[in-house]
This record gives sequence, C-alpha cells and structure tokens, in this order.
Amino acid sequence: MPYLVVARVFEKLAKTTKRLEKIDIMACLFRSVILLRPTELLAVVYLCCNQIAPPYVGLELGVGDQVIMKSLGESTGRSLNDIKSDFTKAGDLGVVAVASRSRQCTIFAPRMLTVQSVFSTLISVANSEGKQSMTQKVRLIQSLFVASRETEAKFIVRHLQGKLRIGVNEQTVLAALGRACAFTPPAKVPPVVDMSKELMNSEQMEELECHNTALIKKAVCELPNYELVIPALVRYGIDHLNEHCHISPECNTIVYVCVLCKMIYFKQGVPIKVMLAKPTKGIAEILERFKSMKFTLEFKYDGERAQIHILSDGTVKIFSRNAENATAKFPDLVNSIRKVKCNCKKKKKSHLKPDITSAIIDSEVVAYDRKEHKILPFQQLTTRKRKDVNEADVTVQVCVYAFDLLFINGQSLLSEPFEVRRSKMHQAFEPKQGEFAFAHYKDTTDPEEIQQFLDLAVEACCEGIMVKTLDIDATYEPAKRSRKWLKCKKDYLDGVGDTLDLVVMGAFHGTGKRTGTYGTYLLGCCNSENDNFQSLCKCATGFSDEQLKELTDVMKNHVVGKKPSEYETHMDCPIWFEPKIVWEIKCADLTISPVHCGGVGVVHESKGIGLRFPRLVRKRDDKSVDDATSTDQVIEMFQNQKHMQ
Ligand code: ATP
Repeated sequence: MPYLVVARVFEKLAKTTKRLEKIDIMACLFRSVILLRPTELLAVVYLCCNQIAPPYVGLELGVGDQVIMKSLGESTGRSLNDIKSDFTKAGDLGVVAVASRSRQCTIFAPRMLTVQSVFSTLISVANSEGKQSMTQKVRLIQSLFVASRETEAKFIVRHLQGKLRIGVNEQTVLAALGRACAFTPPAKVPPVVDMSKELMNSEQMEELECHNTALIKKAVCELPNYELVIPALVRYGIDHLNEHCHISPECNTIVYVCVLCKMIYFKQGVPIKVMLAKPTKGIAEILERFKSMKFTLEFKYDGERAQIHILSDGTVKIFSRNAENATAKFPDLVNSIRKVKCNCKKKKKSHLKPDITSAIIDSEVVAYDRKEHKILPFQQLTTRKRKDVNEADVTVQVCVYAFDLLFINGQSLLSEPFEVRRSKMHQAFEPKQGEFAFAHYKDTTDPEEIQQFLDLAVEACCEGIMVKTLDIDATYEPAKRSRKWLKCKKDYLDGVGDTLDLVVMGAFHGTGKRTGTYGTYLLGCCNSENDNFQSLCKCATGFSDEQLKELTDVMKNHVVGKKPSEYETHMDCPIWFEPKIVWEIKCADLTISPVHCGGVGVVHESKGIGLRFPRLVRKRDDKSVDDATSTDQVIEMFQNQKHMQ
C-alpha cells in the first residue's frame, strides 16, 4: 500500500479539529486496508499512533533534529546551514523537508514509498547500533527522503520526531478502528452480530461502533501490544478478539516473529495498562463521593509504581507506570522475589505460597531503611541508577508494597471486586519485613478515623491515602483514571486537590541572583483533543539555587529556535523548549486567566484556566508528555473547585 495514501489522510486529519470527523476519516482508511490489504493493518495502525513497538520493548528511534537535517541535506544536496536557517524561519522541520524536496531534480524516479517500507525503515533506524549507527541512521532516513512525494517528507520528519501533529491520539485511533470494524468486519470468521447495513439503522450502527471500540480498548489495555492485537483482530474478528487478547503473564512458549520488523516478541510478561486515581480535596469529599458504598483506605506510598509479573518458569518482570520494562533497574527486587519462589517448596520463608505458579501484582516500590525499619523519602529512590544496575552496587534498598492482585495461577482477577482481589493477595503471599509488604489499610467510614489514618500515613513518609471501593463497582479498570480509586494527598488539603504534571514549554532568563540560569518557566497541560499544549502558569518558586542550575543545564538540551506550533499560549518567552520534559507543580487554586489557555473555549470563549501561586514539587522523569495532566483534568479540577466553594 503506498505511503502516500496515509500521508494524504494525515493532511486531511490536520485540517479538522473535530474529533468525530477525524474518527470518520481514519475509519475510512482502516476500512480500505481491512478490505484490500488486511496484513498491512498493523503497520498502518502503528504509523497512525506514531509508534514503532510497545513501550516495554524499549525500542527508540534515537534521532534528533541534527540527524534529520543532515539526512535532508544529503538527500537534496542542500547545505546544512541553509536547512538550519530555513528551520529557524519556519519553525517546522517537516515543512522545510517538503520545500527542500520540491527543489530537487532526479534522473530516475525512485521507488515509491510503501507503508511497509516506511515502517521497516523506521525499525531499522531504531535498531542501528554501534560506532557506525549515526551514519547508518542518516543513510536510512536519506533513502526515505529521496523517495518521498507530495507531503510525505513532512510526515516522515514527524515520525522521526515522535509527534505527528495531526490532532490524533491513540484513543482516537482505537475509536476509528471500532468504527471501521462496524462497517467492514475484518474477520475470516463471520461476525456474531449481523452487521449488514441494510438491517441496521444509524443508532444501532453507532451502538455497534461503541461496542467494538470498547472491545478493542479492552484488548489493548490488557495486552498493550499491537503486534498481538491487530493480527488477532484480522484473523478472528472483533467478536472473538478478547478471547485471544487478554491479561496473561504466562508463557514462554508463545513466541512469534513480527512480520514487519522481524523482531522476536515473547507474549510473556506483557504489562497491562495501570489503573489510576481521581484526586479529592479532603475527607468531606471522600464521604460525599462514596456515600452508601463500602470502601477502604490505604497508605499512598511515595515511590515508583511496579507491576510485577511472576511467570511459571520463575521469571520475574517489573514494569513501570508507563509500561516500560524496569526489570533491569531492580535486580535486588527480582532476586528476592525469585529466591523466595525457589525456596518456597523447602521453607516457609517465602512471599509465595507453594501452590502459586503465576501472578501479576500491582505495587509501589519505595526506598527503605532496613536498619531503622522505615520508609525513606521519594528523593532517595531517585538516586538509584536507572539502567544496568548491578545488585552488588545497590546502596538504596527498596521494599515493595503490594496493593492489588490482577492475575493468579492462570486466572484473571480484573473483573473481581477489590475485596476479593485483596483477600486473594493476602492469602497468596507472605510479607517479609523490609522487602515485601502489603499496603497498610483500614476499612472505616468514620471521619475521625479517616483523619487519623491520613495523619498516620503522613507520619510514615507517605504521600497521603488512597480510598478504594470494595464490593460494588470495584473491578480493576486498566488504563482508566477511575472514580473507584480516590487519592487524597497531604498537599491537597491546602491546595486545589492535586498536584499537576506539566510540560515545560518555555523559560525567561533569570535576573539578580538567578543571572545565568533560567529564572522562570512557562508550563502547560496536554490537550489530546487538539494534540497541543496549553499554557497554565509561569513558575519561579520551589527551586533551590542548585536545582535552578541543574534544571537550566537539562533544559538547554531541549531549546528550539521558535515557539513550537503546537503551543497555545499568549505568553511570549525568549526561550522555547521542545515538548519533552514534565514537572510536578503544586498551586493554591485555579483561576480564569487572559494569558493562559488551559481549556480555552470550554471554560470561557477566549480565556483559559491559569494556576495561582504555582510551585515546583519535583521532576517527573517517569512521565512522558503524553502522561502530563490533560486539559480535561484541569477543567475537572477547576469545576470541582467551584463546586467545593
Ligand atoms: P501521582 O503523582 O499521585 O503519583 P499518578 O498520575 O502517577 O499521580 P495517580 O493515579 O494519580 O497516579 O495516583 C496513584 C499512584 O499512587 C499510583 O500510580 C501508584 O504509583 C501510587 N500509589 C501508592 N500507593 C498506592 C496504593 N495503595 N494504591 C494505589 N496506588 C498507590
């Protein structure tokens, strides 16, 4: 299938801001792929999501603007300086690539780009390693530029930069797939529901689309790997998708080679997308939200989320909040879990009871002082190396606090209520002091006891408490920021209900004591609807002098020549950054602002939401810009705040 078809669809998508229109445009593309080239659906979906592999595989393109400009220069015969100066003027390397291409003459027309060729070249770029890797990457990218037509070069640049800028996120892609499957079922097996259009009115069609989208989302949440989900969708059809794609830490035997990139994938240890919590502002709100429901309180530990997969062959894998493979970061933890598993038949000392073969635990890993038997602050954990950690070199010990059990002995527990999951977890594992513990909990609805529990949590170096439904409406919801889980942080009590994780957009030069550093930063939230970032505040507090220097050094690597086109703000910064870095920010409250643009058009026709008295809490290296606080969340906080007043 020609890549040009996809590039033209991207152009069309960029021209509309309406989500339903985008879904429709994309669904038409998917329908034709399903009909004509079903085996290429995987590559098309990957290109639309702008991904090359699941996050836990850790495959990265490793390409910066310099490499792209060099490849562009070599493929068009233009000098690097000319390209750089065009880039400064246009502020968009994609536009420069198209303009450079159109000036180029070739004797022979190069072979046209196909969806497969573009995708496999991107994979090869990511796989280029060793001394010659940069030369190799330049050569591969050059081959794409040479063969590109119309606006293909623009989107090739954007694939390489990791941002398509067409206002489409993964959820939109999945909704479009749901719609495509309603009109053009991709099954060799006949669908269970009769989807004949003549027999269905538009309402029924819409219902079917929603139903399909829910099935696809469920599959992707439980098995976030398109290499597994898309071929299963094509092969078995939408109605049988969830039978083939579901949560499972098993299995060493299911190994397959990806048809596109020839990489070997193991089905074992695919992380499921984690469930997240909604913020609350205090005990009154908790009681109001969960009135007449059975709920429990837990300590909210301040560390790193860890989804621990224990496989039947003794393999232990650890995945981060963002489904990245963090196993190599915690060899001590892996070993302690593995050791106890081996010990379990002989001694009773294990975390695992002898009859446990496989499990997925949801937990928080925290820094722990094993002599004093106490939890250490989050900052201690951040001093641990992130990669290639040698167990012998570990100085900061960790303890796992398990708070949920998602899978046990081949059985998914996702649809079980939390009360059942928690009790199975307590039955299955044995705590070991300083290494493996259950989240401390209390089942109470008494406001005084809740307050005491919150105080206790803060004393124990926790961030606050989590409040979770126990029986009704208490299933595990992968990938959802769910109302079944509420968080109440100690900071909330004097703030707006939650800290925000914001994208660092720009900066202002420091003056006085801060001369030579960036003294003030512009930060914003992520608007997935328009695929842009909306400014929320200027932040100049919460930094120590050393931190200011350190952050300036880090941020210097992300400076761009011009305000990125995906930034929505009325502020004019002397320094702009590419959207890469996320910081956690606390504020006093949210207010309507004439210069900031959070939720503009929703809360006010021309003004947006801004933060008052913002303050840096910490860097969030564990979050990508796509995980930053969304515009919808900011609007919800703003409306909640009004509701609470
Ligand atoms: P935060 O900045 O609060 O960590 P987040 O977006 O990472 O925000 P939330 O859903 O807002 O995640 O809060 C839940 C997080 O709190 C989990 O991701 C987990 O890392 C941590 N956590 C600590 N203790 C618990 C617990 N007992 N139950 C659930 N999550 C817990």
